[in-house]
Amino acid sequence: MIRAQDLDELLDSSRQDVLSVALDTDPRRPEHQVVKPAYRIYFRNATRRLLRTVPRRQREAVRENLLRILARLEDPPQGRGLAIFAAPGLWSEFVLPVPLPNRIRYGRPDLISVLWAADEYEPVAILAVDQRRVRVLRMYLGGTTLVDADEFVLDTSDWKFKSGAMRPAGRKSGMNVSRGRQADPFDARVAAQIERFWRGAAEAVVEFLRGQRIDRVVLAGTDDSVYAFKTLLPETLQPAIVGTVHLSPPMTLVEIRRRVLPVALAAEHQRETALVADLVQQAAGRNLAVVGRTATLGALVRGQARLVVADRGAPGEVWWCNACAYASVHAERCTHCGGPVERVELAHVLPLMARRHGAGLELISSGAAVLLSRHEGIGATLRYAISAPAAEG
Ligand SMILES: [Zn+2]
Repeated sequence: MIRAQDLDELLDSSRQDVLSVALDTDPRRPEHQVVKPAYRIYFRNATRRLLRTVPRRQREAVRENLLRILARLEDPPQGRGLAIFAAPGLWSEFVLPVPLPNRIRYGRPDLISVLWAADEYEPVAILAVDQRRVRVLRMYLGGTTLVDADEFVLDTSDWKFKSGAMRPAGRKSGMNVSRGRQADPFDARVAAQIERFWRGAAEAVVEFLRGQRIDRVVLAGTDDSVYAFKTLLPETLQPAIVGTVHLSPPMTLVEIRRRVLPVALAAEHQRETALVADLVQQAAGRNLAVVGRTATLGALVRGQARLVVADRGAPGEVWWCNACAYASVHAERCTHCGGPVERVELAHVLPLMARRHGAGLELISSGAAVLLSRHEGIGATLRYAISAPAAEG
């Protein structure tokens, strides 16, 4: 799992000798079910290319670290994605339940892949509802955890049905059902109990979501249950419901996860696409948004950017001043401190820049990335609308 604290430490690290490796180690892929899995072949080939770019006096240390990582890859990794950050005296490993695009970099820690995964698979609350049980599951990075405290079970021992009103054998006959639930005093009573139970569960769910700061909810259950439970959730929560999945009891965790994940991902992609469409439109009207590398970097280093939106595979190289976390498209000295700059991949320094300059970072893929590719794969919403100085920073 990704802990924000670990990422922050890496992001804040001033080390420039870190090997950052992201791999798709998904054991379900046939090319990973052979003696030499594809990610290991990728790693070997990529490291050979990488070593050629490392300055000669650092090469031996890098080679040692590469061997450490290679040894680690001898054991098939547990998850479907693996990220490793390694340097002398540093080893940080993230095993993820989702594949990461293969990538290897040397220099400052390269967090773009891990950050993208965290973005793509933001936490979702799943409410698995049936008549006697409401389970609240937290799905993060495609994995689900059952939150014990938030499993609500209707305790039928409290039902206290009058003697003689106990359900006789055969009451479930077709004829009986056709009379309708409310027409039957027994069933009406049960329905009222269930509704009361759901109402209580709904209140607790709202509390739980508030505490967890999860703003995405998927409902799972039979059509009837999901519909009824949804109407019991408050108006304010309705926009957070990004999808429903129809499942019959018993709903196993595996089944819930398998069915909910595509719904959650589709919702996330839809949200990203809407975000980019909005950004592009606002930028066209010069209304608190910019697109393209020059304008976005300019806004970022002026502290004007509120949220940077970028293609995860984004986008080209920039001149970078390590002292100021300052990047520009053109300048060959730092326009901030006048110090030396180096040519770096924007994706590599973007997370650090966003953090230093107080902007959020949203990494996108799929359809949203296609939409943004017309604008060099990057843009930002702005805090205020002061126009950029003529000379871009
Ligand atoms: Zn500088």
